[in-house]
Amino acid sequence: MRPSATIATDARAKALAASGVDVVNLTAGEPDFDTMPAARSGGLEAIEAGFTRYTPVAGIPELRTAIAEKLLRDNGISCQPEQIVVSNGAKQSIYNALMVLVDPGDEVIMPSPCWVSYPEIVSLAGGVPVLVDTSSNGYRLSAEAVAAAVTSRTKVVMLNSPSNPVGTVATDAELRELAALCVARDLYVISDEIYEKLVYGSAEFVSIASLGEEIQRLTITVNGFSKAYAMTGWRMGYAAAEPQIVAAMTNLQSQCTSGASSISQRAALAALNGDQAPLESMRQQFDRRRQLVLQRLSAMPGVVIEAVPEGAFYIFPRVSDLYERMASGNRSSGSVGFADLLLEAARVAVVPGLPFGSDDHVRVSYASSLERLAEGMNRIESVVRSL
Ligand code: PMP
Ligand code: GLU
Repeated sequence: MRPSATIATDARAKALAASGVDVVNLTAGEPDFDTMPAARSGGLEAIEAGFTRYTPVAGIPELRTAIAEKLLRDNGISCQPEQIVVSNGAKQSIYNALMVLVDPGDEVIMPSPCWVSYPEIVSLAGGVPVLVDTSSNGYRLSAEAVAAAVTSRTKVVMLNSPSNPVGTVATDAELRELAALCVARDLYVISDEIYEKLVYGSAEFVSIASLGEEIQRLTITVNGFSKAYAMTGWRMGYAAAEPQIVAAMTNLQSQCTSGASSISQRAALAALNGDQAPLESMRQQFDRRRQLVLQRLSAMPGVVIEAVPEGAFYIFPRVSDLYERMASGNRSSGSVGFADLLLEAARVAVVPGLPFGSDDHVRVSYASSLERLAEGMNRIESVVRSL
């Protein structure tokens, strides 16, 4: 298997910073905020109370109940606590779902570009990732494009709204068309909703499973606490699905991890039950950062923003017009070479677009303070203008 490129570039930037280099790290797929106080107290209380043993594999009943309530309240998805399985991050939920659904040779349709881990996990499950190019449709996944990719081996369609790396948010109408297609062709949907709480401007978040009973039966809704509650290190995610899928995912988990950390589960429960005001304040700060990077990058010669991000905390500028002007030297070509150039010449770390499925782009995360982002933009601009 290949290592996760997002994690690898972040680790490289952090190692440089630790060695004393003044790096502006714009790779990070994690909020720079602290975990909210309610969740921190929940974790501490769990430790103090000795709540430190194995939990039921699918999660503690209180947390599964609180998640079912959240799904009804926030997403319009009605399900029983027994339809929830809690995992070590949304990543494990996606892994569990793909392992359970995909047989060798099954095809899994996903948008391209997409998050680096989808094709890798599908391949690990013995499946075949089928990438649907979204560049000609404003980086939006249309039912028409998915329909053109469906074969007799198609098993699952992966959705990710708001999307990593582009930041597009699927509309109600787009999701209704996708839902109709999946119901008609009997395709499962894994809906990765991890960036649900980070939506800006007039975009509105919709969960595909809320669009009717038939599509809900086919959907595995995946979400977690990493992004909304700044809890990346706690490793808390979950999936909601039909009981037999949840049972299979739980069996898999019982053999692999025995379930998620008891302490993190108590912290997640406290996060759901606590004051939600910090979420909105975080969202507003991300929005200001989004506007800064959008404005600065758009003004740089040769940097093209094809899709204005409406959600998550990434922007995916096209930089391929600059490639010809990069001095070749020993550097790689394409997005990897461009990211290396930014690191060497400007000490700004970004993730090359290649592992997301586009060598014409780089991914810039705006999960950094306005000051660091402004500094990063100044540095990128000076490199770009010097080419
Ligand atoms: N889905 C997407 C699109 C992501 O960017 C990430 C990265 N954190 C995840 C899922 C997994 O998140 P976690 O495992 O931290 O819940
Ligand atoms: N999801 C984040 C990212 O895309 C964190 C790293 C990872 O899990 O991929 O950068």
